[in-house]
Amino acid sequence: MMVKIKMTTPLVEMDGDEMTRVLWRMIKEELLKPFLDLKTEYYDLGLKHRDETNDQVTVDSALAVKKYKVAVKCATITPNAARVAEYDLKEMWKSPNGTIRAILDGTVFRTPIIVKGIEPCVKNWKKPITIARHAYGDVYKGTEMKIPGAGRAELVYTAADGTEARELIHTFDGPGIVQGMHNISASIESFARSCFEYALDVKQDLWFAAKDTISKKYDHTFKDIFQEIYEKEYQKKFEEAGIIYFYTLIDDAVARVMKSEGGYIWACKNYDGDVMSDMISSAFGSLAMMTSVLVSPDGYYEYEAAHGTVQRHYYKYLEGQETSTNSVATIFAWSGALRKRGELDGNHELMQFADALEKATITTIENGSMTKDLAIITTLENPTVLNSEDFIKAIAGKLQELLEE
Ligand code: NAP
Ligand code: MG
Repeated sequence: MMVKIKMTTPLVEMDGDEMTRVLWRMIKEELLKPFLDLKTEYYDLGLKHRDETNDQVTVDSALAVKKYKVAVKCATITPNAARVAEYDLKEMWKSPNGTIRAILDGTVFRTPIIVKGIEPCVKNWKKPITIARHAYGDVYKGTEMKIPGAGRAELVYTAADGTEARELIHTFDGPGIVQGMHNISASIESFARSCFEYALDVKQDLWFAAKDTISKKYDHTFKDIFQEIYEKEYQKKFEEAGIIYFYTLIDDAVARVMKSEGGYIWACKNYDGDVMSDMISSAFGSLAMMTSVLVSPDGYYEYEAAHGTVQRHYYKYLEGQETSTNSVATIFAWSGALRKRGELDGNHELMQFADALEKATITTIENGSMTKDLAIITTLENPTVLNSEDFIKAIAGKLQELLEE
């Protein structure tokens, strides 16, 4: 009998929906509880329970992160009209991720999990590229107008005391379109701080890019806010950690990213982050191999998988059919949260356990045992395709070996 690793402070555990909820239970039973004296404060964010509590459980779970600092979250359903009917919901509840992010004021960092045999399309990428996307404003909160014909379009700002400032957008001599968008300095500052905090946390360089040569006030403000916070609050810490921060133009950043070997954080404005995160994740191979962490400017961390609840597999599972759903990103959400918990508590055994759990997962795949989604894209010959449960059990076997060494 192995002695179970102790935890001193609980993790905030946010359970979720559908296939990922099924995987969640398996991961706890097979990979965590046999080895760990697992301590969590449990919140059931499954859609049924969100509905029963009028979504209060989501708010409570986010407040718990402010208390304990570290959370692990299962994927959850964001209700749409079909889900309202399917679950007979009282309301079309908001996205839990949106609610949590609004309370913690955080930025989401997405990182691919790299294994031999699942090769990135870009052959020089050797290390993960993490994308940080600013999640407020710009074109996502834009106001648009169709201009029917000749006339003047202006930007008008009316101050609290009634004074006005105006800028001409364009004098139209025929039909056209206009768009007004905004951002808030406080939001950009939070974004910058989350990026600097996370770069220090993972000891990786931070790149930030925008188009300040063209957008001399809007994008330039992003650049200036990053630079000011960096110099005042982070430059010394970065130098001590041996990492760098730099700003460059977005087109230059794209060119450098393609030629790089990876291993840094790329901070993006809202639209750039939306587009580039899809490019990065598909070029690295699979959404099922992408982790995600919400980092607040106050240093709270919430770990999860980047994919959804894998609804299609869940319906097969409900019909009693075999599924081969990839649990890697969800396992890494747990290992990320456990490592951070260990770090904050000075619990080295817990940090080592997190390392072992990741190593067991990667080794299992590199030895040729994987779920169907990876078997389709792997460069390894004759992979063994496992079902959802057997894949987790194979990792458990490997983990047992590693911990006994
Ligand atoms: P999804 O759950 O990410 O799955 C889309 C497809 O991607 C699946 O049908 C599957 O393809 C493949 N896939 C994703 N994750 C996989 C995994 N771990 N293993 C194997 N294959 C995987 O997206 P969705 O079906 O569009 O969304 C389902 C629900 O998730 C929605 O209700 C949405 O609101 C929610 N969602 C939640 C989050 C979150 O909580 N962070 C994020 C996104 C979506 P095949 O069917 O071809 O095998
Ligand atoms: Mg997108």
